[in-house]
Amino acid sequence: MAAQHNQVFFPGSLGELFNAWTRFPDAVPFAGGTEIIRGQRSSSLVLPKNILALSEIEELSRMSRTERYLEIGAMVKLRDIIRLGKIVPEALTRSLEGVAGPHLRGLATIGGHICHAACRLDCTAALIALDAIYELRNAQNVRWISAARFSQPGRLALEKQELLTRVRIPLDQWDFSAYRKFGDRNSGAEGGVLIFIMKNRKNILTSLRSVFAGECLLRDQDSEAALTGKHLPLSHRDAQDFFSRWRETLSSSEKPSPLIKSEILGCIESLIYNLAD
Ligand SMILES: Cc1cc2nc3c(=O)[nH]c(=O)nc-3n(C[C@H](O)[C@H](O)[C@H](O)COP(=O)(O)OP(=O)(O)OC[C@H]3O[C@@H](n4cnc5c(N)ncnc54)[C@H](O)[C@@H]3O)c2cc1C
Repeated sequence: MAAQHNQVFFPGSLGELFNAWTRFPDAVPFAGGTEIIRGQRSSSLVLPKNILALSEIEELSRMSRTERYLEIGAMVKLRDIIRLGKIVPEALTRSLEGVAGPHLRGLATIGGHICHAACRLDCTAALIALDAIYELRNAQNVRWISAARFSQPGRLALEKQELLTRVRIPLDQWDFSAYRKFGDRNSGAEGGVLIFIMKNRKNILTSLRSVFAGECLLRDQDSEAALTGKHLPLSHRDAQDFFSRWRETLSSSEKPSPLIKSEILGCIESLIYNLAD
């Protein structure tokens, strides 16, 4: 029997893409390809049977901004988002800069980064903390979904033959942004990122977000809400409550590993007590 050949489609528009996807429902979107070919060391690559290369769809590479939002097409490379400079919220820039090395950041796309199914990659925590939303399309519909709902633990909220097409990030002013990376994803080991951002208006803490993304997603919105509206510096008791809630969140979660849990907790402790008197 003749060997089956791989087919690679290069649609020039979303219409063409969904056309091909309807004919070949098993086809896999291929963005930068860094995850798809990761870890392959033999001379011939093992690829999905049918591939939908996204590189020729011009609208997926667009970026635009308004006063309130930054919009980034799914095929924009991580490197090119960093190059936008100061308009990109610091939490996201630092997360992007922490992904692998410059070569990989020049290949990997924001869409492929977000749609990595096995675990939540580094920029996920910032995108959730910043209230980003994602545009998803299939052959018939367009829908928007929050980064938090999209990246729910367990599985991505991506339906069959649905494509992530755009990311919209609110351009709010955050007065303090902390980024901390754990583990070493470069070597394929367990890892993750903690983002902690806050707004301070006349010594009132008006908004606070703390999100961990890695093998799992961790966030305790009750503890964030409990501090909103409090005077800065925080009281020792408020800081203690916040820390205790994070400790509970971590101890009730199966993942990440005990080592990363204790590193996250140490980081939360120093960040929150820095805001206290
Ligand atoms: C050596 C190395 C080091 C790394 N280090 C880090 C690190 O330090 N931190 C970190 O966070 N990550 C790290 N990564 C992972 C890296 O971030 C991802 O490989 C990369 O972001 C994926 O982007 P891509 O465009 O190459 O996606 P692809 O490999 O093309 O696709 C990834 C997945 O998403 C799907 N997909 C792609 N685009 C879309 C879309 N628009 N809509 C729907 N589905 C889509 C594909 O079908 C595939 O399943 C590393 C990877 C390598 C190889």
